[in-house]
Amino acid sequence: MVTACTPAGPQSTTAQVRVTDDGSIPKNESISLDDDKHAAIANLDQELLTAMRKAAADAKLAGVELRVTSGWRSAEHQQRLLDEAVELYRSEEEARRWVHPPEKSAHVTGKAIDIGPTNADDWLIQHGADYGLCQAYANEMWHFELLTTPGGQCPQPRSTT
Ligand SMILES: [Zn+2]
Repeated sequence: MVTACTPAGPQSTTAQVRVTDDGSIPKNESISLDDDKHAAIANLDQELLTAMRKAAADAKLAGVELRVTSGWRSAEHQQRLLDEAVELYRSEEEARRWVHPPEKSAHVTGKAIDIGPTNADDWLIQHGADYGLCQAYANEMWHFELLTTPGGQCPQPRSTT
């Protein structure tokens, strides 16, 4: 249906929000947990997102800002990251220590989130269990998943070697 009636006023006040289909966030950039328009946030598991937002609100009171460097990723985006890692490390085996294939990545199912900067990771490693959030891998201090119940105890971060 075509309508001649166009809404008055500015179309959007969030023009700076990048809308991507595959959930990619440019390297060295981060987005807010409130950035609902970004697929990386919009496609996250609701339980994980709710827990992260609670943690972020409390972190803020402590003067720490939790920023998202990666959230949900499409399978294509995950595969691209793996391909880039293989190129970087010149070894499929070494690359897989850092980047899971799409079928193994919790990012593709929306059940993992990467947080930065370093002081935010430190805060979340220390307090995350209060929200059920745990560091999943020993070699990735930025990668968090819901791995316990709020107030429970996190499992030992897994080694990928
Ligand atoms: Zn991750």
